[in-house]
Amino acid sequence: MKRILPLLCAAVLTLSLSGCGQPKECSAEFFAMDTVMRVSAYGNGAAEAVSGISSRVNELEALLSRTRADSEVSALNAAAGERVKTSGDLTALIAAAQEYSAAANGAFDITVAPVVSAWGFTTDTYQVPAQETLDTLLPLVDCQRVLVEQDPDSSDMDDFVTLGSGQSIDLGGIAKGYASDCAEYLLRANGVKSASVYLGGNVYVHGSKPDGTPWRVGVQDPADPNSFIGILSLADSYAITSGGYQRCFKEGGKTYHHIIDPATGYPADSGLVSVTVVAPANRAEEPVPGHGALCDAFSTALFVLGEEQAVTLWHSGTYDFELVLVTEDGRVLVTAGIADRFEQNEESAYRYEIIS
Ligand code: AMP
Ligand code: MG
Repeated sequence: MKRILPLLCAAVLTLSLSGCGQPKECSAEFFAMDTVMRVSAYGNGAAEAVSGISSRVNELEALLSRTRADSEVSALNAAAGERVKTSGDLTALIAAAQEYSAAANGAFDITVAPVVSAWGFTTDTYQVPAQETLDTLLPLVDCQRVLVEQDPDSSDMDDFVTLGSGQSIDLGGIAKGYASDCAEYLLRANGVKSASVYLGGNVYVHGSKPDGTPWRVGVQDPADPNSFIGILSLADSYAITSGGYQRCFKEGGKTYHHIIDPATGYPADSGLVSVTVVAPANRAEEPVPGHGALCDAFSTALFVLGEEQAVTLWHSGTYDFELVLVTEDGRVLVTAGIADRFEQNEESAYRYEIIS
């Protein structure tokens, strides 16, 4: 692991934007999926890719948001218990969410939606729900009860999803990762060799920087929004972070955050304060859920599961990913596969360890 001075953090923050007027660079900043998104692409195909990504992200939000009454997810949630014809995007994402949920022993579960709502995280009117409310809602949380019928043979995908009666889904823990999969596909389809895509806490870097050096992606210090615990030097990679600090409220002197443990209905309390999952670009022939969706689902899941189970899943080698974990007791754990690409912040008080 290399060491850096905080000075370098400023350089990461200036990884930023100018308009489409400049030759060979095209950038866009827009608000979607409840967060600010920034896309910068360089060279041939940049303008087409950037505009394609912003339209695609807006299209996905219109399909996948459960707070938009006219979205496909809202229609599906309203029809719980019935068999509903679904788009290829929604069907594939639900199927991927089920797979990642199984891999994470249920710690990631899109049917946690009614519990997330009970905490007020969809409306911003936060509250601690009564235990009786959680006891009523928790039996609805089981995404393996969602029936997904995917027609792999049809080009005009004939897909259906049936939620269990009373169930509803929330794709907030995976949709931005899928959007970054779609961005990766569009950059490749337009022949772009260098780009960065920031979708809230979800980063995808395409190729290297225009000067041929790796992109520098800061991992935020969960305790200080103006500081990084370290910098990842990456090319063709996703780096997706989940942290309780990203959305939370205080009540009665306690802080409650938005990542819910499906086992308890309460905000996860696993000893981790942030989880960053890093994985290589997909290079798939179709814009299907890939490593972006995986990193997003796993960052949420591993935040719930905690250090020991996160490391066990990494050790299993079933999925191709690396981790940067920040623990409540002030440690930063970096898995061996990425340690040489992680520069720690010399000035921080964290203790850094490599997991091998
Ligand atoms: P992320 O920021 O990717 O960690 O996702 C957090 C969001 O996913 C929350 O705002 C909820 O909408 C949703 N969510 C919360 N807890 C879970 C969970 N255990 N599994 C799946 N989605 C969740
Ligand atoms: Mg996530």
